[in-house]
Amino acid sequence: MKDLRGRPLGTLRLSVTDRCNLRCAYCMPEDEYAWLPDASILSAEELERVARAFASVGVREVRITGGEPLLRADLADVVARVAAIDGVEVALTTNGVLFASRAAELRRAGLARVTFSVDTLRPERARELSRTTRLADVLEGVRAARAAGFPRTKINTVVMRGRNDDELAEVLAFGREHGAEVRFIEYMDVGGATRWSARDVVSRTEIVEALGATALDEADGAAPAARFRARGGETFGVIASTTAPFCARCDRARVTADGVLFTCLYAERGLDLRAPLRAGATEAELAAVVEGAWRARDDRGAELRATVADRQPLVPLSRLRADPHREMHTRGG
Ligand code: SAM
Ligand code: SF4
Ligand code: SF4
Repeated sequence: MKDLRGRPLGTLRLSVTDRCNLRCAYCMPEDEYAWLPDASILSAEELERVARAFASVGVREVRITGGEPLLRADLADVVARVAAIDGVEVALTTNGVLFASRAAELRRAGLARVTFSVDTLRPERARELSRTTRLADVLEGVRAARAAGFPRTKINTVVMRGRNDDELAEVLAFGREHGAEVRFIEYMDVGGATRWSARDVVSRTEIVEALGATALDEADGAAPAARFRARGGETFGVIASTTAPFCARCDRARVTADGVLFTCLYAERGLDLRAPLRAGATEAELAAVVEGAWRARDDRGAELRATVADRQPLVPLSRLRADPHREMHTRGG
């Protein structure tokens, strides 16, 4: 099943909540947010039905995201239900604050891989960048992933000029010490990045130069990260979503915690799956809706943004307040 640009559907990013216990400067810099209504949030059973429909039209990886997925008390149940689907691997993206004490439970539930967001190793910086005093718990989470036997753990680091771009070598060393490959992510002008400015983007070229790195391989297939080897020997990835978008190979669909399907991070509108889901649609009927949306997909949001002169934040605050579906923390990143 291919979209209008010949791209297959491979990955579902399934958001399980729009709530978060951090306030990262590139994602949730405001003091107040409009939240999805509680009654609209999909139950574990509904999330499983969504995942089954996507699996039946080709999805092989379901990445659970948010908001912060660990804020859901029933996360292990969600993981177990999705991991039980034939041919599906379940991964998790988390800020790590609440991970350590639940690592073993999630591993038992069938979670295959974990990616942690770690933007700094300095407690005072974590307070500024993410408004948290719990950096030690985040770092403990990364250690706990290894202790619980998770393979191929990753660390995502969004690089912002003047905020954490002097710390990249330290983050790499931390990753190496704890068996986690680091991926540096260019700061994106997605919905929710209301303080975004082109000046604050540190490009892949700058990151690679700062680390004295050499190229290992280009991003290929649906993998967004090109890989490099740093002066110190560590391998790492860079996701250059802002300066070199990978739309041409993008195989991802996103579903928000209230069941709205987006075929692009930048898409203005989504398709409601919750109504058919709650009206009792069968897996085949839901799959047909997903298939129709994917076959009609023409998105290449980041590529189009890259052609805009004098880029400003993508979505004005007033529109985010009117509809939180355009927020990165609602779409799941
Ligand atoms: N709360 C979890 C976390 O932080 O890992 C999962 C959700 S978060 C929205 C998913 C990913 O989106 C994170 O890795 C985060 O760094 C990334 N992200 C959010 N806003 C971004 C931005 N403006 N530019 C680049 N990446 C961003
Ligand atoms: Fe940070 Fe993730 Fe929360 Fe966004 S959703 S504020 S990236 S922890
Ligand atoms: Fe995929 Fe849209 Fe991101 Fe491009 S901007 S990589 S099409 S989600």
